[in-house]
Amino acid sequence: MRFPRRGYVAGYFGFVVIVSLAIVGYLATTGEQMASRHTPQIDAAMEIKFNAAMGHLWFEEIIAGDRNEQIEDVWGYLEASDWYARALLEGGQNQEGTFVPLKSPTMRRQIESVREALARFRTIAEQRYSNFEASLPGSDIDQKFDRIFYEFIDEADQVETLLQESIVVELAKFKQTVIFLTAMLLGTGFVVTVLLYYFESQRTLHLSAIEQKNEAIERKNSELDYLAHFDHTSGLPNRTLFTDRLNQAIGHAERKSNSVALLFIDLDRFKSVNDRLGHARGDELLKHTANRLQQSLRADDSVARIGGDEFTIILADLDDGTTAATAAQSVAEHILGELTKPFDLGGLQVALSASVGIAIYPLDADDPDNLLINADHAMYESKQQHPGHYCFFSRELEQRVQRKVQISHDLQGAVKDNQFTVHYQPQWDLQKEAIVGFEALVRWQHPEQGLLAPDSFLGVAEATGLIEEIDLIVLNQVCRLQQEWAKLGLPGCKMSVNFSAILFSRPEMAQILASRLAEYCLRTENLQIELTETAMLQDMKHTRELCAQLMNLGIPMAIDDFGTGYSSMAYLNNFPAKVLKIDRTFIHEVDKNRTAQAIVRSMLELAGNLGMEVVAEGIETEQEKVFLQSAGCSYGQGYLLGKPMAAEQAEKLLLACQDDNVAFLSP
Ligand code: C2E
Ligand code: CA
Ligand code: CA
Repeated sequence: MRFPRRGYVAGYFGFVVIVSLAIVGYLATTGEQMASRHTPQIDAAMEIKFNAAMGHLWFEEIIAGDRNEQIEDVWGYLEASDWYARALLEGGQNQEGTFVPLKSPTMRRQIESVREALARFRTIAEQRYSNFEASLPGSDIDQKFDRIFYEFIDEADQVETLLQESIVVELAKFKQTVIFLTAMLLGTGFVVTVLLYYFESQRTLHLSAIEQKNEAIERKNSELDYLAHFDHTSGLPNRTLFTDRLNQAIGHAERKSNSVALLFIDLDRFKSVNDRLGHARGDELLKHTANRLQQSLRADDSVARIGGDEFTIILADLDDGTTAATAAQSVAEHILGELTKPFDLGGLQVALSASVGIAIYPLDADDPDNLLINADHAMYESKQQHPGHYCFFSRELEQRVQRKVQISHDLQGAVKDNQFTVHYQPQWDLQKEAIVGFEALVRWQHPEQGLLAPDSFLGVAEATGLIEEIDLIVLNQVCRLQQEWAKLGLPGCKMSVNFSAILFSRPEMAQILASRLAEYCLRTENLQIELTETAMLQDMKHTRELCAQLMNLGIPMAIDDFGTGYSSMAYLNNFPAKVLKIDRTFIHEVDKNRTAQAIVRSMLELAGNLGMEVVAEGIETEQEKVFLQSAGCSYGQGYLLGKPMAAEQAEKLLLACQDDNVAFLSP
């Protein structure tokens, strides 16, 4: 049974109250009506007898000469007696009350009889009075007079009896009604009470069910609230709560005119930790990191995890910018020191470092969003320039960032409109002193800033993913040039094309290259792909697979900038490449630097043992070239042997070399 709504219960209750009041009202008014109707009627019945008896008494007195009453008074009594009889028939009113006419035909008839008897008594009384002498007590007329009077009294008694009987009957009926209504009232009251009790108990049940539900909802809400504001892995406040707290801290600082320092912390190379140790260990490491950060702070400082390996610290309520900078610096130094202490992951010792960016309110930004962005920029700068250190946000940094933003914006248009051109740097056979090929190096023909070198835009292109399309544009240009040169009858030479890690990671890379070669009718040995050591290391499985596919196609791979990555030389035989390019940092002044000489020699030896060809990069002086030649380095490139040049110049150089068969043209 469903629990009725409160409105219905109130309705039942109201109904019972109204019925009860109606019953009580009915009983009260009915009782009153009976009393006000019957009391005057009984009085009247008595008055009929009383007045007639008074008339009879006085008449006898007058006859006996005992009193001085007037006969008119006797007639007055008899008339009064008749007036009451008429009042019972027709109704009437005097100072004693209001007389309601009787309805019962029997009683009405009886009253008529009374009136007739009274009339007869008056007639005999008048006769007796007019015949005064013959009507003395004991006379015939006296006896008739008495007899008629007693007949009247009998009739009047009869009225009284009937009246009393009818009252008794009416009272009995009234009693029954009272009993019935009272029983009904009690019954209804009982039913309603039972119903109310039942509904109340149902309501209590419902209420407790609702309360339980509410409690469950509240529990769920607080769980959701926790999930909405805290990071599950580290237990630290998440980005939402951090944003709230930063807003509060800045609002407070605004009112008190003081400062807030924000530290943006990003773990260095955390992705490789995750890749090497798995995500479970990675999460554990994040938990440990969160603990160390928390333990390094004052109770008032607030630390949060706002992204994968990104944490923030708010230092609030600092007197001014200088105080804020000093506090931030000391916290940064402390936490960097703490984070470099090894972490114990179930017996495994893991070392970590982090880069920290610091921005101060209101010096570096006057709102929370920009303060966070600027701290992030400072962190990025630190990661780029000095990973494992901290860096303050500055106006120069801001300008650099803005330049990057501008470049990133312009790059989209550059890719769409193909504003890229390719320069070619000759690569030489150092022993034979002859050109063997070119390295293709991209340039951006910026509509306002002129020709831009890759260093100024490749970082942004990598960050935005546009590098992939740029690489393909360069590949297309290189293929087209090769095709033109073949048509001109130039001898085929090798074109070395740089690939980004992103493009290289595409599974269909080999197909792309094969289709280009087919499209431009190129021979595979005329193309070479350069990939940095770091890019190769990103996914060794993929690197090996792709290198094998390229080898099947006949396209050689070159390890670019060798020696600048993190792998040791012994790792070299893991790279399935045909060519090793020694980075120019090792070539620079190699003739004077014995350490560099030792490194270069061992690279040459190792590569020789592995059957790899070596290209020395960045040869700038004759002495460097001579050293490399004497060390047995096969190939080289550098400003001494030829700077990167436009396609037409490269073509001329190739023709000149072919004609003169002369080596090493000056650039
Ligand atoms: P890289 O692959 O190491 O290219 C050689 C860089 O060294 C070129 O700089 C070249 O101009 C410069 N260089 C050559 N000889 C000398 C020398 O004797 N002394 C000095 N100091 N520098 C020399 P560039 O053209 O500015 O290219 C810079 C880097 O940009 C390249 O380094 C390469 O990593 C990247 N890059 C260039 N073109 C592309 C491209 O099409 N795709 C991709 N993904 N990267 C490219
Ligand atoms: Ca290169
Ligand atoms: Ca290089």
